[in-house]
Amino acid sequence: MSNGITLDEIMSAQQMTAPTSIQFRVHVPTPEEEVIFREEMSRHDLIDRTVKRLVREQRLQPDKWHTLDCPACGGELKFGYSGYNGHFHVHCATDGCASWME
Ligand SMILES: [Zn+2]
Repeated sequence: MSNGITLDEIMSAQQMTAPTSIQFRVHVPTPEEEVIFREEMSRHDLIDRTVKRLVREQRLQPDKWHTLDCPACGGELKFGYSGYNGHFHVHCATDGCASWME
């Protein structure tokens, strides 16, 4: 700890509110999982930036589906956004490529 407080001090100050006998094990990603995670994040970023740029530059209408060659895989990507709350919906036809609403 950079502020001089030890983990033991933090744990004794912040008592668990419920007693637990269960040991929770935190999953530390393997290097292979890290690679997959980074690939997914960069694919997400690439698609996210592309569709938002298109909406902005081409003034695409809300509440409609728009179609694009997926910038990540070349498959058919459908996307749209809500005129009500601005949420983006993105679905690539390629299994496992991209599918989200946010
Ligand atoms: Zn794709």
